[in-house]
Amino acid sequence: MKKIKYKNIEYQNLLIKCVEGIHDTNLQSNVYNNISSFKERSTNYKKLAERQTLYQISSELKNDFIYENMTFLYGKLRDSSHSRTYYDKIMGFSKICPYCGVQISSSLDHYLPKRHYPMFSVDPMNLLPCCSDCNTTKGEHKQLQESETLHPYFDKYSNVRFLEMDVIEIDDNVAFQYYLNIPSDLSMQEYRKVAKHFELLELNRMYSILASTEVHSQIYNLKKLYKEGGKEALQQNLDDIYYSNLHAEINSWKTALYDGLRKSEWFCEKGIFIFEYVSDESEGIEELIPIPNKDKSI
Ligand SMILES: [Zn+2]
Repeated sequence: MKKIKYKNIEYQNLLIKCVEGIHDTNLQSNVYNNISSFKERSTNYKKLAERQTLYQISSELKNDFIYENMTFLYGKLRDSSHSRTYYDKIMGFSKICPYCGVQISSSLDHYLPKRHYPMFSVDPMNLLPCCSDCNTTKGEHKQLQESETLHPYFDKYSNVRFLEMDVIEIDDNVAFQYYLNIPSDLSMQEYRKVAKHFELLELNRMYSILASTEVHSQIYNLKKLYKEGGKEALQQNLDDIYYSNLHAEINSWKTALYDGLRKSEWFCEKGIFIFEYVSDESEGIEELIPIPNKDKSI
């Protein structure tokens, strides 16, 4: 979960480039004739987003545009050599996905999905660089009142630690459970967005897998520290890694992980010896299905 800075893009230029050289001259004229209304809608988008009331925005198609026109324009923005420079410019706003804060941005997401808000299909304020997992998981979420996710250009992000992790024993193994605390510097409305964001994008699942991989890579060293200096030496080491991560990023999955580990007496005494890395890949060899007898099959 990361805030990113929106850098100004001339919407008028982007629109003109999206229809440059297209065969559908009616669509081209319609875009030229309605540039001012596209810009007005965008100004209104910004105003509502800044006031945390984007749910009030109209989802209607306007100025004789149909849904297919708007998705066509988005296709041009992404694929046409005339307008690709704008797509790449928005992609450049953040190399790391602002939704999960972990993976590399590889596509543009429509914060208000183009399926439900087609008139914002190419509005740069509605386009966010993100990873393909978050883009797919977020899907066509409608961003209705009280079920909105964080808008990385406009929403307030907490400066207080709110991401926590509990290390727990499940089925004789160690599991990492992420959850949120209400930060003191956000209103209830702002926090609701953080919570919805965390739930919808299944960040607990993603962070738990990352935590398991991270501990797997450290477990040899952790056991060695315990054998050499006992629980105190191990906790000292976890403290150091925690503070190092805290300084880098207050609400990262790693900061929460090392805080949870260093505070867990159980992990430091027993958990490190039962921890087993569980891969997501299924094990075993798939059984072969016998080839049906041709003569008997119908
Ligand atoms: Zn992501």
